[in-house]
Amino acid sequence: MSITEVEFAIVGAGIAGVSCAYFLAGAGTVAILEREHVAAYHTTGRSAALYSETYGNDAIRAITVASGSFYRQPPAGFADVPLLSPRGVLFIGTAAENDALDQAYREFHSLVSTVRRADKTEALGLLPLLNPDMVDSGVYEPDAEDMDVAAIHGGFLKGARAKGAVLRLKAEIVGVARKGGKWQLDLRGGDQVIATSVINAAGAWCDELAALAGVRPVGLVPKRRTAFTFDAPQGVDIHGLPAVVDIGETFYFKPEVGQFLGSPADETPSPPCDAQPEEIDIAIAVERIEAASTLRITRIKNKWAGLRSFVADKTFVVGYDSDAEGFFWLAGQGGYGIQSAPAMGRISAALAAGKGMPDDIKALDVTEATLSPARLR
Ligand SMILES: Cc1cc2nc3c(=O)[nH]c(=O)nc-3n(C[C@H](O)[C@H](O)[C@H](O)COP(=O)(O)OP(=O)(O)OC[C@H]3O[C@@H](n4cnc5c(N)ncnc54)[C@H](O)[C@@H]3O)c2cc1C
Repeated sequence: MSITEVEFAIVGAGIAGVSCAYFLAGAGTVAILEREHVAAYHTTGRSAALYSETYGNDAIRAITVASGSFYRQPPAGFADVPLLSPRGVLFIGTAAENDALDQAYREFHSLVSTVRRADKTEALGLLPLLNPDMVDSGVYEPDAEDMDVAAIHGGFLKGARAKGAVLRLKAEIVGVARKGGKWQLDLRGGDQVIATSVINAAGAWCDELAALAGVRPVGLVPKRRTAFTFDAPQGVDIHGLPAVVDIGETFYFKPEVGQFLGSPADETPSPPCDAQPEEIDIAIAVERIEAASTLRITRIKNKWAGLRSFVADKTFVVGYDSDAEGFFWLAGQGGYGIQSAPAMGRISAALAAGKGMPDDIKALDVTEATLSPARLR
């Protein structure tokens, strides 16, 4: 049995854990403890990889906007490839959904000035594969981008390790106890990590980790979302086409390295688990995508599902628990954990190190109270 002592023990090597480690390493000793044999096995490795500054509530959008400059100009050596590449998102609707599109346009445009209302001609011009009988008009976000999630996750992890953070795989935390003013983390197999602070970045398992520590839950609900890939029509170059999301968020599809990625945009509550796709969800998505477009989906190439975990107000949960000294929450990344990671990494590292909310984030009206676990109690 080995016993290791660190200042910060981060549980979970998904995007939340590694982006926090990237900014925290150097402020103290950091260990990232991951149950699986690889990092990013769960939700982080299963996303649709879209960066959209109009997605989510006000706080989420602000934190995403605050992440854009890092992604566009990452620090030297962070990655060998661009982290973002142009995509664009076209939100579409039927004639009956005109009011919803108008409202979305007003909301989105107030934060992202390049967002525009697209009439039917423009919508069909942007995506000639749309069904003109179903699509009446749209809202277009030209600056939405595809993210290289592997390069982003790898860049944070490599940078954290270069500053001294240690990643330990196959390190499942099975017990968490407060002893002598520190946290004792028991790993399956008998090893222990002693930490001044525990950073709970366990994704869908955040409330379960809190329960192990005797800390009250924040009411996290993991929700399954399904995705799959299918062939583009023969002879059609889809590379430059935008992602398409219906305004009610009941399906989406987007080009993905020469094929399409589709989803029914499902949000089915689930216990934390290794989520698997259900045939019925894929069938629902196929029906909706075929109705909205001229695409015919004859073969599903790959399919997967992941858990997007939300608290009641769908805002992130970041900060020390007021009832449990040294227990830090980094939870509720929902459907936005990758696009928001640079700012979330900075925020979580600053708060965990006791430095308070970064000024540029406060200037966007996101305060410690906005993200605090105390708001959920
Ligand atoms: C289909 C789909 C599409 C998505 N599309 C997008 C998108 O376009 N843009 C975007 O920004 N986001 C998207 N998301 C959301 C994004 O993927 C998540 O917000 C993000 O990955 C969450 O990261 P995380 O680190 O919190 O969780 P995870 O990646 O799940 O990491 C948590 C880790 O904690 C580990 N862990 C848990 N319990 C323990 C324990 N007891 N001991 C040790 N380790 C433990 C787990 O093994 C896991 O590796 C999508 C998600 C899905 C499923």
